Amino acid sequence: MIPFRKETPKRRDIKTAVTIYSDHRDELKKDYKCRCGYCNDIDLWRTVWFEIDHFVPQKYLKTIKDTDYSNLVYACRSCNNSKWAHWPTGNELIHNLNDEGFIDPCNDDYGVQFERGLDGKITYKTKLGKWMFYKLKLHKPQHEVIWNIEETYNLINECKEILNKIDSPEIKNRLLILYGKYVEYTLKLSET
Ligand SMILES: [Zn+2]
Repeated sequence: MIPFRKETPKRRDIKTAVTIYSDHRDELKKDYKCRCGYCNDIDLWRTVWFEIDHFVPQKYLKTIKDTDYSNLVYACRSCNNSKWAHWPTGNELIHNLNDEGFIDPCNDDYGVQFERGLDGKITYKTKLGKWMFYKLKLHKPQHEVIWNIEETYNLINECKEILNKIDSPEIKNRLLILYGKYVEYTLKLSET
């Protein structure tokens, strides 16, 4: 098993008043390093599917404003739609209780609720992780596919750099296999 994510996104303390919450999109994309806060998918291949989620759903907001940066999460459409208005505590200040509810993805604790198989598939490690896993539908195949595309893309780039330094038929062959895998996963993405 490997860690669910390499780093925890950190929201800056942005207090700028905006008209609508979507005005924060560029700042959120920067703080979340182009990744969905919930599934960690990168937006490189699916930018238009990325949206803004209210961590505490709008219907439960009392003291928090719907434009408050501290309550916003850069999220892929799948996680945003799946999370919907689920908020079992019903209280904007209580994020989870008795292993039900959510952890803010900008908290280190969020990342340790899950882990990944060597194939990139997400699994849960705790009871609360299990609750979030099913509510966010982290079992959907696109998360594994996007993870693999990113891994392969990075490997191809590493190989390219090595090829610039040495001339090895073996590495060229490996690069060709990786490129095939990359294309295969990219095509799979359109089916998910
Ligand atoms: Zn997501």
